[in-house]
Amino acid sequence: MDNIYDVLIIGGGPGGMTAGIYAKRAGLNVAIIEKGMPGGAIANTPEVSNYTGYTKINGIDLATKMFEHTSSLDVPFIFEEVKTMKLSGDIKKVVCYENTYEARTVILAFGASVRKLNVEGEHNLLGKGVSYCATCDGALYKGENVALVGGGNTALEDALYLANLAKKVYLIHRRDEFRGEAYLSSQVKEKDNIELVLNSVVSRVNGKDKIESVEITNKETKEVKTISVDGLFVCIGRGPDTDMIEDEIEKDGSGYIVTDENMKTNIPGVFAVGDIRNTVLRQIVTACGDGAIAATKAFEYVLAARKR
Ligand code: NAP
Repeated sequence: MDNIYDVLIIGGGPGGMTAGIYAKRAGLNVAIIEKGMPGGAIANTPEVSNYTGYTKINGIDLATKMFEHTSSLDVPFIFEEVKTMKLSGDIKKVVCYENTYEARTVILAFGASVRKLNVEGEHNLLGKGVSYCATCDGALYKGENVALVGGGNTALEDALYLANLAKKVYLIHRRDEFRGEAYLSSQVKEKDNIELVLNSVVSRVNGKDKIESVEITNKETKEVKTISVDGLFVCIGRGPDTDMIEDEIEKDGSGYIVTDENMKTNIPGVFAVGDIRNTVLRQIVTACGDGAIAATKAFEYVLAARKR
């Protein structure tokens, strides 16, 4: 066996691990590069209740099961962080901070990360009132007061979702009109327990062991006020971090990698799966499906390359 992998998978979330399982079972020389804990976003999800076969499972438990399954097939995990990737050409180069790896195909599976406000208190109070996922954590705030930041479709949908659970929702947006669709914004405006806080940004999150309040600054008047809340939901978009890819990889207007139904990108031998790509649904089950397809197509690509 040469030291050029048939398949290098970047990211050990559900999509990456499933691709690893399928690639290994197809007899390919495969490895998964993961910079942190295998599992991707599910490792931070308190409860998963929409993955077939599990009525309810803790995210870390599901990630552990997936890791054990992948490891049981001797799919190696390389625990390193990728610095850059040179993906065009027959042999792709993945440069990590410690070592450089080569492969005939690469499956990009490193997900998308949520945008942060980057204000004081946000990081320290993560999981102690600060959340980036209303559908994951909203139920914890039944009958309480929450704030939500953002003006896109996600923020509007999440505000409506939270309004049915919480006592009051402060919807904080940095402009006076929403980016999200008109029918959603009119539903939001009709809800009695949603208070709009427009032209405003959260300038600080207060609390020690638990969130207590958010400081809000009006961008026009510069007036600063503090609102007592039990939770803060930050819904200001997300995106994949594709800066490390040196080549021209096609992305959509929101920065997600464009693939066809076979998970192929515009670069031959390069595939993308899960949250990183321009999919219609970003879920564990769809990421796993993507991973299976990408590995199958990578197998075909490697076979054809061997014949060339
Ligand atoms: P988005 O459309 O990119 O909207 C992000 C929102 O956050 C914008 O209103 C933006 O303000 C605000 N924002 C960004 N950075 C901020 C910051 N640092 N501080 C304060 N506010 C900030 O993101 P999204 O709502 O997650 O939606 C992503 C994509 O999924 C969109 O294409 C959306 O249409 C789609 N989506 C569709 C549906 C649906 O069709 N039902 C549901 C959810 C999402 P500005 O407006 O001032 O830029």
